[in-house]
Amino acid sequence: MNTILIIEDEESVRELLRIYLEKEGFAVEMAADGEEGLAKIRRTSPDLIILDIMLPQKDGFEVCREVRQKSATPIIMLTARGEELDRVLGLELGADDYIPKPFSPREVVARVKAVLRRTSFSPPETRKVIKGTNFQINYPARKVEINQEEINLTPKEFELLWFLVNHPYQVFTRDQLLEQIWEYDFGGDTRTVDTHIKRLREKLSRSSLSSEIKTVWGYGYKFDPNQP
Ligand code: CA
Repeated sequence: MNTILIIEDEESVRELLRIYLEKEGFAVEMAADGEEGLAKIRRTSPDLIILDIMLPQKDGFEVCREVRQKSATPIIMLTARGEELDRVLGLELGADDYIPKPFSPREVVARVKAVLRRTSFSPPETRKVIKGTNFQINYPARKVEINQEEINLTPKEFELLWFLVNHPYQVFTRDQLLEQIWEYDFGGDTRTVDTHIKRLREKLSRSSLSSEIKTVWGYGYKFDPNQP
């Protein structure tokens, strides 16, 4: 069962969403402000977070930023202000979707399901081989084949590719990728990420993978498969 955490200070909105989500079979956790929200994220590891922007103590942007430093848990942001700026800022901070208030609870449920579908892939340890139309990535063998021909990747290039392919549609900053692939203590330079992406694209140029690794200007990179 998927757990949804609702971080929203308005009790009526929180309750309305809880009722609709529970009716759809989700387990629901709730928090009334940003600090409580972050504590609940640590305690309950939700599968998705519904995050209001205007919150007491820590606002939704701050919460989103803190979550993204550590995890890729899907986030849907809510806002009453409905300003374009909020939407852009939310998405830049790594939110997966955005719903302006007032909304219908049914729409929120539909978006929750859509985001979960988009982001729910088994973790790498359970997925051993990923096959595409003209490629195959074999994790245990650390092997990539394009049109049945093996491509030589360095261990870091392989890890980077595997990580991106296992988190489709999610945008990662260079710092996040450094942390994921090169570990926290690397202390490296974000240009390392750019160099590896460039080499990956070159080495994968005969498959769709090359163009599916997208640059998100001003933010970082994402894997955007042509066919989900
Ligand atoms: Ca609010």
